[in-house]
Amino acid sequence: MARGTLTTYPEPVLRDALAFWLRVCRLEEWDVVLKLERGDVFTNKDVSGETAILKQGLQAEILLLDPVSYQADGAACFDYDMLLTLAHEVGHIALWSWKRPERDTTDYVLYEQTVERVGRLLVQLWMRRAAT
Ligand SMILES: [Zn+2]
Repeated sequence: MARGTLTTYPEPVLRDALAFWLRVCRLEEWDVVLKLERGDVFTNKDVSGETAILKQGLQAEILLLDPVSYQADGAACFDYDMLLTLAHEVGHIALWSWKRPERDTTDYVLYEQTVERVGRLLVQLWMRRAAT
């Protein structure tokens, strides 16, 4: 299986982007903790990010796959852009009040596609901000 492409960012950049996106999405009241973790800590396999909403909202924990773990795992066959993954996870927080559909359903696929669109939009906003 082909290896994926890894795009990394320094942790301070990721934290700046996270703070920017929480402001843009009007989620400033949320306490969001960002952690870089090894792949075996994740609930799901072959993912680059996971978000846990804690205490029914206003607290969340975003796990991003540690690039070292991504590279060490020769089976990492998906692309991993840390900024895009982080933005996707912020999208999950922004859409949190909608119930996440059951896995392996059409609704789940559509939900994930919507979250991904939100994530890509957030990355565009961040890039424009960074360019000015
Ligand atoms: Zn997702």
